[in-house]
Amino acid sequence: MEKKRLVIIGGGAAGFFCAVNAARLNPVLEVLIVERTGKILQKVKVSGGGRCNVTHACFEIEEMASRYPRGERFVRKAFYQFFTTDTIEWFQSRGVVLKTEPDGRMFPKANTSQAIIDCLMQEIEQRHVRLLLNRPVERIDPLEKGFCILFTSGEQMMADYVMLACGGFQKLSQFDWLLNLNLKITEPVPSLFTFNFPKHPLNELMGVVAANALVKIAGTKLSSQGPVLITHWGLSGPGILRLSAFAARDLVVVDYHFTILVNWCTDYNEQTFVQKLQMLRSQSANQKPVNGNFTGLPSRLWEFMLKQAGIDSTKRWADLQSSMVNKLAKCICAYEMKAAGKTTFKEEFVTAGGIALSEIDANSMMSKQHPGLYFGGEIMDVDGITGGYNFQHAWTSGFVAAKHIAADSMNATMLPIKDAQ
Ligand SMILES: Cc1cc2nc3c(=O)[nH]c(=O)nc-3n(C[C@H](O)[C@H](O)[C@H](O)COP(=O)(O)OP(=O)(O)OC[C@H]3O[C@@H](n4cnc5c(N)ncnc54)[C@H](O)[C@@H]3O)c2cc1C
Repeated sequence: MEKKRLVIIGGGAAGFFCAVNAARLNPVLEVLIVERTGKILQKVKVSGGGRCNVTHACFEIEEMASRYPRGERFVRKAFYQFFTTDTIEWFQSRGVVLKTEPDGRMFPKANTSQAIIDCLMQEIEQRHVRLLLNRPVERIDPLEKGFCILFTSGEQMMADYVMLACGGFQKLSQFDWLLNLNLKITEPVPSLFTFNFPKHPLNELMGVVAANALVKIAGTKLSSQGPVLITHWGLSGPGILRLSAFAARDLVVVDYHFTILVNWCTDYNEQTFVQKLQMLRSQSANQKPVNGNFTGLPSRLWEFMLKQAGIDSTKRWADLQSSMVNKLAKCICAYEMKAAGKTTFKEEFVTAGGIALSEIDANSMMSKQHPGLYFGGEIMDVDGITGGYNFQHAWTSGFVAAKHIAADSMNATMLPIKDAQ
C-alpha cells in the first residue's frame, strides 16, 4: 500500500487528538504535527486552573449542542460520531479516569492537566507520530495531488492530507496566511468575557457571589442564570461568561455599551418580592430588615441593597414606606447596571468566529473547496460556553477528521463507529 502523509498544523488539543487517532486507525499513515512555538498543548496545561476541564458531564446530544452559541447544528452532527461518552472512555481506557464536579465539569481524577498531556504524549510516541517544534507555517498550496506546506524558514514539505488545527485568532488579519485558499472567514469577536462597570458602587463588594442570579440584557431576549461574582471592575462568574458568549455578536454592535437587569434572588420576581415585604411589615413589624435577610444572599449584598433602597440599620419592617419596599424589590429582582465599554481583550478564553462552517463538511471536517484539507478545534467558527465544551469540540473534530483521513488513506470505506476507542 502506498504510504501517505498527514501533516497537522498546530500542536494543541485538536491537532494531537487527530494525530494519535489517525495514526492508530491507519498505522501505515505517516503523521506529523508541526507547531509554531517550542511548546505543545499549552492551553490544555493552563485550562481549568491547571486541572484541564476535559469535557462536560452531559450525555444528551441535543442538550450538549445547545451550549454552543456558534456551531450548534454543526457540532450536533459531529457528536453522533464522537461524543462526551467517547471522550470519557477514550481517556479512561488509557488510564486517565475523569471525575465530575457538582456543576458538571469533568477533570482528570489526578486533578492535574499533566495527566492529559502525558497520555497524549505517550500515544504519539507509541503511534510514531513525529513532532516538529518551532515550525511556523506560512502558506499552504493545494496541488493537483496533495499540498505543499511552506514554513517561515523557507523549508517546504509535501503532504497528502493537511489538518488545520491552529486555534482561534483574535483578528481577521491573522488569517491572511490562508488567503490563497479562498476560504470564507467569519470575523473574530471576543466571547466569554466579564462585564465592565467602572467605578460602580457594587464593585466594593468584590469577591461576593450570588449563587443563582438571572442576568438579562435590557431590550433583548438574551439572558443567563447561574453564579455571578462581583469583581473590582464589574461582574464575572459562569452566569456572566455564558451571557457574554450568547451575546458576543450583539455586544460588539453596541460597542459594549448596554444595560443589564440582575435578579439576584430568583426565588422571587419584583411582584412576589413586594408581596413578601408587605407580609413582613405586618407579621414581623418590630424586626429590622438588616437582621432579616431571608433571601439566602450573602449578607454584604443584602446590606448593600438595603442601603441602595434608602433603608438604614435603625429601620424596622413596619417603618418601611411603600417607595422603599418598591425600591428594594427593584434592587433585588431587577437591579439595573450600565456597562461602559469592554475590559481588555486578553481575558478571553475563546474567540467567536473563524473558518465559516459553510466551508466545512461536518461529517468529515473536510474542506468543501479543497479535498484533503481538514479543520479541527477553535480555528472553526464554533465556540462553546465555559465548562469543557470547547475541549469537547476539539476532541470531536480531531477524531472525526482522523477517522475520515484514516479511511481515505486506506482507500477503504468509513471505519465502523465503534473504532472510537
Ligand atoms: C486560559 C484558558 C482557559 C481555558 N479553559 C477552558 C476550559 O476550562 N474548558 C474548555 O473546554 N476550554 C477551555 N479553554 C479553551 C480551550 O483551551 C480551547 O478551545 C482549545 O485548547 C482549542 O484547541 P485547539 O487545538 O483548537 O487550539 P490551540 O490549543 O490554541 O492550539 C493551536 C496550536 O496551533 C499553533 N499554531 C497556530 N498557528 C500556527 C502556524 N501558522 N503554524 C504552526 N502552528 C501554529 C499554536 O501555537 C497552538 O499551539 C481555555 C482557553 C484558555 C486560553
